[in-house]
Amino acid sequence: MLKGKGISEGIGIGKALVLKKEYIKIEKSKIEDIDIELEKLKVSLNSVIKETQELKDKSNNEQKQILEAYLMILQDETLIQKTKELIQNEKLNCVYAVEQGMNEIITNFRNIPDEYISERANDIEDIKNRIISKLLQIEENDLSEIEPATIIVTKELTTSDTAKINMKNISGIISEIGGTNSHVSIIARNKQIPMIIRVENIVEQIKDGDIVVINGETGDIHINPSIEEMAHYQKLQKQDEEEKQELGKFKNAIAKTKDGFQVEVSSNIGKTSDLEDVLKFGADGIGLFRTEFLFMDSPQMPTEEEQFESYKKIAENMKDKLSIIRTLDAGGDKDIPYLNLEKEDNPFLGYRAIRLCLGNLELFKIQLRAILRASIYGNLAIMFPMISVIDELRQAKQVLEECKKELDEKNIKYNKQIKVGMMIEIPAAAIMAETFAKECDFFSIGTNDLIQYTIAAERGNTKIANLYTKNHPAVIKLIKQTIDAAHKNGIFCGMCGEAASNFQYIPLLIGMGLDEFSMNSSAILQAKKTITELNKKECEKLVEEVLQFSSDKEVEKRLKEFIKA
Ligand code: PEP
Ligand code: MG
Repeated sequence: MLKGKGISEGIGIGKALVLKKEYIKIEKSKIEDIDIELEKLKVSLNSVIKETQELKDKSNNEQKQILEAYLMILQDETLIQKTKELIQNEKLNCVYAVEQGMNEIITNFRNIPDEYISERANDIEDIKNRIISKLLQIEENDLSEIEPATIIVTKELTTSDTAKINMKNISGIISEIGGTNSHVSIIARNKQIPMIIRVENIVEQIKDGDIVVINGETGDIHINPSIEEMAHYQKLQKQDEEEKQELGKFKNAIAKTKDGFQVEVSSNIGKTSDLEDVLKFGADGIGLFRTEFLFMDSPQMPTEEEQFESYKKIAENMKDKLSIIRTLDAGGDKDIPYLNLEKEDNPFLGYRAIRLCLGNLELFKIQLRAILRASIYGNLAIMFPMISVIDELRQAKQVLEECKKELDEKNIKYNKQIKVGMMIEIPAAAIMAETFAKECDFFSIGTNDLIQYTIAAERGNTKIANLYTKNHPAVIKLIKQTIDAAHKNGIFCGMCGEAASNFQYIPLLIGMGLDEFSMNSSAILQAKKTITELNKKECEKLVEEVLQFSSDKEVEKRLKEFIKA
């Protein structure tokens, strides 16, 4: 048995298709005629652009979005700037100049300490290889005709490969390299295709036609399994499908406890292409649109028009269902290269999110105007991240008023009643929730950050992962205090941090009266199921009990017992 990192759950059984990429040796030579080499570059780049455009036209919505982002990179002038310089100044042959020039950009991207952005380097590498293949007239793999029940085995599945494959025929994917946030990983999770990454030399270990079984949760890979092993995995696969079917009943179900307490179960999204899943899993709304992904996905600041189109798309698709657009939450672990943010010793405590927007009013206003303009197409709300003092909320609202005035002057329509809320993700805001509740329309508790700031334990640091827990009594008290303050002041309170989808934690949140639970779309059905099996009165007792505990261990133990009972 081989083992890798499982990044998309499920059992995949099928026949292996091993995609081997030829190793291409790139020769360096000096050229005579610069114009000829520049022309070769132009022709091959244009041909890659044309192919991508044709592929995009034939693609479904989700792939279209991915290919649009890919085209944006392809059409960005800076992509081949260095290559051109190497041809013009150093008189290097085109293929070699492409290899060198683009490698420089790839390395720069890879060095960005943000997993999501650094993984875009793979797209640039893919583009580089396609241009080189064109220059050397090498045929690319034909992936359009793949047989049903195929397990793809590859060094890396690139964005352009992914767009060509009919995913319906794929039962699993194994790759040697790849990240959790690469496009293919995101698609695999959305389409519920089991996927395993980081398996060394996988293309040498599996042959075309081998029968392969993979477990996308544990990362286990069996090649030509025994009859017993196969029977075991077929049983697991059947159970998996039965569970999915059972959960399917909760699509469009109202999330109401046995004693009639009704809540909303909404989606967290990062891109408009996530809408497909929002609709598929029957979300009651969008509790969080992390707009920073619009900024991170683009080589330069998205324009007001580009942002408007994205927000409008959300509004139109969600119709009257509330969709909360969070303003840019850059900084911390989300770097955006073209903002040229200074390196800080403590980025999580630094110049980020609302602090950065209030210091860059033009950037902030472009976003606010785009959201306002889109607000007439559905039911949008605006939410400010990382508010720590009341002045920030007041200033942000003031800037919003200025944007409304600018639109009024130009007779541009927007929803004048648009709701304005804030994240509660800093302990200072949770403690002062009463004050904030008087000046906004809703709260959404961001437990991901609230936990790290309350316990002073960084959210991604594995060495202190034992400290970083939602079960810390201080975190529970801050959540309770926030929900109570919201209700006392007649506003609703949601939660968009990861804790909202945890089935052991949900009873506690129901007991506190949380109004909206926002999570990854794929967690919605399970959350709705959990909620419908609860009794609010019993959950309220659980809250009283848990508030007496002094350690996270006691809380954890009790929450486990409660859900089992
Ligand atoms: C949070 O902090 O809980 C949250 C939802 O925001 P993000 O994870 O984007 O910081
Ligand atoms: Mg946060």
